[in-house]
Amino acid sequence: MEKVNIDWSNLGFGYIQTKERYVSCYRDGAWDEGVLTGDANIVLNECAGVLQYAQTIFEGLKAYATDGGHIVAFRPDLNGERMEASARRLEMPAFPRERFVEAVTKTVAANRDYVPPYGSGATLYIRPFMFGSNSVIGVKPADEYQFRIFCTPVGPYFKGGAKPLTICVSDFDRAAPHGTGNIKAGLNYAMSLHAIVSAHKNGFDENMYLDPGTRTKVEETGGANFLFVTKDNKIVTPKSDSILPSITRRSLVHVAKEYLGMEVEEREVLFEEVKDFAECGLCGTAAVISPVGKVVDHGREICFPSGMTEMGPVTRKLYDTLTGIQMGEIEAPKGWIHIIE
Ligand SMILES: *Cc1c(COP(=O)(O)O)cnc(C)c1O
Repeated sequence: MEKVNIDWSNLGFGYIQTKERYVSCYRDGAWDEGVLTGDANIVLNECAGVLQYAQTIFEGLKAYATDGGHIVAFRPDLNGERMEASARRLEMPAFPRERFVEAVTKTVAANRDYVPPYGSGATLYIRPFMFGSNSVIGVKPADEYQFRIFCTPVGPYFKGGAKPLTICVSDFDRAAPHGTGNIKAGLNYAMSLHAIVSAHKNGFDENMYLDPGTRTKVEETGGANFLFVTKDNKIVTPKSDSILPSITRRSLVHVAKEYLGMEVEEREVLFEEVKDFAECGLCGTAAVISPVGKVVDHGREICFPSGMTEMGPVTRKLYDTLTGIQMGEIEAPKGWIHIIE
C-alpha cells in the first residue's frame, strides 16, 4: 500500500478524515465485539444522552513511525486506564483497558497509510471517545453507549522552533473542588471555551487556572499540566485532585528522575512561588512540553529567566529526552512503546 498524498511538512492541527474508524456499542449491559467502519458519520436520536446532558468522555494519544521502521503508540495502556476512570465518574460503562489498546492497535493499523513518515515531525493523532447514545429526557445516565476511535494526521506542533508562550492568570475557574477536573470529559472543555477565547482576545496564548477554592494555588491550563524548574535545578509540578493526570507530565517526571538524575517535587504550588522559578513548561500529548516565557496576573508580569526566544535548558533536555524515547532513538522504559506493526 502507498502512503496517501499529503504534504506532511505543511500539516496543521486539523481534522482530516481517514479511511477507517472503530466502533463498539454498549447495549443490554454489554459491549459488542466492535468493528472497523468506513462511515465517519453518526446518526443519533435528537434526545440522545450526549446531546442533552453532555455524557461524553474522550482521550488523545499519538501513533508515529520510528527510527526502526515500526509504527508505535506511546503508553496507550495509560489512556485506557484513564478513560476507565473518566467513565466511572460520569456513570458510563468502562470500555476495558485491554480492549482499548487492542482497538487503538486495529484502528491505527487500518489507517497505516496516514501515519506520517519518520523524521517529518508529523504524527497520527488518535481520538478515542465514548458517549450516551439512547434517548434520555429525565436526568439519568444513558442505557446505551458508543465507544469510538478515529485518527487524523497532524503536523509538527512547533513549526520553526518552539516559541515561549505568554499566559495569563484566568478570572474563570476550570474545575470545582471535588468536581470533574481530574477526568477527560467534554464538559470541562465546553466551559473553558469562553475563557480561552477571552484570553486570545487579550493577546495571551493560554490561561493559567488557579484552585477555585482559595485562588492561591496553581492548577493547570485548559489542556496541559505545569512543570516548573527551580533555580537550584529541581522539578516542581502541582499536585491537586482537580487537575487532569497528564500522561506526558507523568512520563517527564520519570525522565527527570531516572534519565536526568533530577529531584522532583509533586506538591501544592502557590501562585506566589511562580516568580521564583527559573523555567516553566506546559505538558501534554500534542506538544510534549511547550515553554512558557511569561505569566501575566492582571497587569503584573512574571518573566522567567529562560526568556522569550527559546526553551530553557532544562525544558529542552526534558523535551529532547522524551521525544528521543518516543522516536526510538533513546532506550525506553519497559512498556512505554507499544508496537502496532
Ligand atoms: C489531555 C489533557 C492534558 C494532557 O494530558 P496528556 O495525557 O499528557 O495528553 C492536560 N490537561 C487537561 C485538562 C487535559 O484534558
